[in-house]
Amino acid sequence: MSALEGGCACGAVRYRLKSGPMFVNCCHCSDCQRQVGSAFVINAMIETDRIEVLSGEIAPTTLPTDSGRPHDVHRCTACGTTLWSDYGRRRVMSFLRATTLDDRDALRPDAHIFTRSKLSWVVLPPDVPAFDIYYDMQALWPPESLARREALLGPGR
Ligand SMILES: [Zn+2]
Ligand SMILES: [Zn+2]
Repeated sequence: MSALEGGCACGAVRYRLKSGPMFVNCCHCSDCQRQVGSAFVINAMIETDRIEVLSGEIAPTTLPTDSGRPHDVHRCTACGTTLWSDYGRRRVMSFLRATTLDDRDALRPDAHIFTRSKLSWVVLPPDVPAFDIYYDMQALWPPESLARREALLGPGR
């Protein structure tokens, strides 16, 4: 596949994905909306070690969550652009902000989640599954992505 490369706004951080992601969520939850100041976030779930940082410095900031589990956003230390998140501080899995890729249209959502707080004017495509809150991962993720996730986090997590 063609190289999936991206970076921050100031250009200090550049990264390359070693493979495509496991799955891409478009999240319409109110936390995401507030954190980015926009209608939704496109998160590409990928093994952290498949993100190769080519240049720049990245540091985590911890954001508050409803669940109480830590949410670390990893940002360029020079310009503050968020590049990916680590939900629950699992470290091995990252939620890459898909529109930090040079080709912002490269990774399209496989599912829309938390549509209960979707902004009223956002119209979702009819051919992509959408959920009030979340979905049954076993039913929705392709088998090879489930296998990658299990290899990373262990069975049933
Ligand atoms: Zn930067
Ligand atoms: Zn969200």
